[in-house]
Amino acid sequence: MTYDAIVIGAGIIGACTAHALSKRGYRTLNVDKLPAAGYGSTGSSCAIIRTHYSTLDGSALAYEGYHAWIDWPGHVGVDDERGLAVFHETGCLVMKTALNGYLEPVCRIMDEIGVPWRDLSPAEIKAMLPIYDLRRYGPVKPADDPGFGTATGGELAGAVLFPKAGYISDPQLATHNVQRAVEAAGGAFLFNAEVAAIRRADGRVRGIRLADGRDIDAPVVVNVAGPHSFKINELAGVAAGMNIKTRALRQEVAHVPSPAGFDFEADGAVVSDSDIGCYSRPELGNHILIGSEDPECDAREWVDPDDYNREFTGQWQTQVYRAAQRIPSLGIPNRTRGVVDLYDVSDDWIPIYDKSNLPGFYMAVGSSGNQFKNAPVAGEMMAALIAACEDGRDHDAEPVRFRLAHTGREVDIGFYSRRRAINRESSFSVLG
Ligand SMILES: Cc1cc2nc3c(=O)[nH]c(=O)nc-3n(C[C@H](O)[C@H](O)[C@H](O)COP(=O)(O)OP(=O)(O)OC[C@H]3O[C@@H](n4cnc5c(N)ncnc54)[C@H](O)[C@@H]3O)c2cc1C
Repeated sequence: MTYDAIVIGAGIIGACTAHALSKRGYRTLNVDKLPAAGYGSTGSSCAIIRTHYSTLDGSALAYEGYHAWIDWPGHVGVDDERGLAVFHETGCLVMKTALNGYLEPVCRIMDEIGVPWRDLSPAEIKAMLPIYDLRRYGPVKPADDPGFGTATGGELAGAVLFPKAGYISDPQLATHNVQRAVEAAGGAFLFNAEVAAIRRADGRVRGIRLADGRDIDAPVVVNVAGPHSFKINELAGVAAGMNIKTRALRQEVAHVPSPAGFDFEADGAVVSDSDIGCYSRPELGNHILIGSEDPECDAREWVDPDDYNREFTGQWQTQVYRAAQRIPSLGIPNRTRGVVDLYDVSDDWIPIYDKSNLPGFYMAVGSSGNQFKNAPVAGEMMAALIAACEDGRDHDAEPVRFRLAHTGREVDIGFYSRRRAINRESSFSVLG
């Protein structure tokens, strides 16, 4: 069997890249060392879909991604015997704090790209989420700090509600949906197959070698290996040609029941709250899922993706206690539930969607905990980039431009270059 492109990884971005390539006529093979699609970091994702980022390009991509999720059946275009993933459009409430400039820069970007938003006063927040206590607690502290849990004066200034936002309750199913679309277009998936080497011939990529010794050839190989992306780039010998690098960051997400008397699943929303250093979203079964916004006081745990602690630590309790500052009626369960997994973080927390110094070898990496939502459009962008480069375009010298189909904007794919200078406009956090 011969393939036009091998995609290393069958997470949501790997699957979407194959989907977009297959729509352009490429015969694709996704290779993954895990047993099924979306079993890597995608399966642990909170899968929050939102439109606001700290950069205009990031926000434009997210707004385009939103359009794919809102019409997921149309985007996927095929049936799946397991059903299609559902987008719960709850809206996203972002608390105004000094840390986010009271959201003025973000709202300017939203206006520029035409994303709706609405200012909420503290009273309006309380009307929407009566279980919320709006006293200020920032700056965020570790749970063992003597000042932890003591209000620091005054109330939050308000919030902005971004209505075109929500979450996908089953990110693994979404990836399976895309797998089925790829297969319908003639693409294939190989699971339980670990890529152990990237083969070269005549100055370009030749294919891959699997850990069991099998060789598979293709003129195009795409690294979409998630938190293992840096290992694959090392195998390909392309890391030295990158100014922006990637590494794996350990994360814990807590999963707790909604407080008694409030149905957070039905009446809650995605909430981003830098005053307490947490984001949260409703989860099926009237639960709340609590993730970290990586506040400065928390040490970042860079790990080897093949050797890290998969058990919850005190970080789990810290995140739940932080959320309980805002939701005083939140019960703190004895049993820890949720996920421990990894982000594939780039130096500036903005992804790399690019070629490499090895002709035929491409990468969609450094998704930095915030690219699930962008996967459908990232896949299309990767396919456009690959088609242009394989057609002889020197993307490093003359970056490919990509038209966003739904929103009509043009993206300079060079924004995501591996050779860019660190983007100082980034939030340098999961917020992107
Ligand atoms: C806890 C958590 C919460 C998140 N929350 C959000 C969110 O709310 N919103 C959002 O937009 N994003 C979120 N993200 C980020 C988002 O989930 C990721 O950006 C996205 O899932 C990455 O997809 P991927 O396909 O690049 O990587 P992955 O899903 O990690 O897939 C990479 C695949 O490559 C395979 N692989 C690696 N090495 C090899 C090898 N040598 N051979 C074969 N296969 C290999 C792995 O097995 C894996 O399946 C979150 C991530 C985490 C971890």
